[in-house]
Amino acid sequence: MSEKKDVTVESQITPELDAEVRAKADELIAQGVCSTRTARDGVNQATINAWTDAMGINDPRWTSGEAPESMAQVWTMYALGGTKDPHDPLHAMMDWLTERGFRGVLGTNVEQTYVRRLEVGEVPRLEMRLESVVGPKATGMGEGYFVTALTEWFVGPEDAPELVATMLFRVLKFIPKPRKKPSKFVLYPTKNRDTEFFWEGTAAGELRVQKCNACGALRHPPGPSCPECHAFDRGYVVSTGEGTVFSHVMHHHPPIPGFEMPIHTALVDLDEGVRMLATVDVANGGTVEIGDRVEVAWRTVDENLTLPMWRKKA
Ligand code: ZN
Repeated sequence: MSEKKDVTVESQITPELDAEVRAKADELIAQGVCSTRTARDGVNQATINAWTDAMGINDPRWTSGEAPESMAQVWTMYALGGTKDPHDPLHAMMDWLTERGFRGVLGTNVEQTYVRRLEVGEVPRLEMRLESVVGPKATGMGEGYFVTALTEWFVGPEDAPELVATMLFRVLKFIPKPRKKPSKFVLYPTKNRDTEFFWEGTAAGELRVQKCNACGALRHPPGPSCPECHAFDRGYVVSTGEGTVFSHVMHHHPPIPGFEMPIHTALVDLDEGVRMLATVDVANGGTVEIGDRVEVAWRTVDENLTLPMWRKKA
């Protein structure tokens, strides 16, 4: 028989705090519908056109008087710079939790249900209430509560409303886990099947560009399949490391661990024909301008990471 090990994780949420959360949640849930809003404009073709353009939808269905169901939320959105409803129960619960140390927020899921399509000329209105507060739950982000609000959209007269769509919106409000001890350089790139050839290359002083073994196309950044022919057969070529600056930026804020501010970053068109982003080796070649010729240089961070840098060609 194997011995059972007791793993005790100390909770930051005391029974008293949990009771307070429950009381606040019950209070807001008991209010029922406590926030309502009517669409600023009725359903109209101009907004439908702008939305389908933005979504890249080119379907004649949406030019003949009906709005896509998934636009449900669009009509009652706050205007740019609009004032949020102080009775909005989701934000009331979230603000209350924030004040008690649940400073983290993560949108976890949205569930929309469509009853019917809206037609041009209809003016939807929404009703919102707090649906549930579930927890405490320990997650990878920290301990917290799942807060769910229900929004319902109606059309028609107040005394005979017709439900057209609903939305359950859930967020996790949590006490962020204490940060791990900061290391000298914490921003390591992801190394996986698609990218490890690149980082093995930098360690060996080679700037490698992914190549499709099926059609020969080069691509960067690396990825699983070829954008030209969709083959998964991956290889690489070693770049000469020379190219021309396409664009550049001087990053002042926010600070990035392991770098001294400001960071001069340049997007370079390599002579092989792909575009690559890296910092500029200002100390050994100065800043760069668009059109400048650059070559790759190396910054060894530690035994696990060597970063490419651009150095202006003399
Ligand atoms: Zn290919």
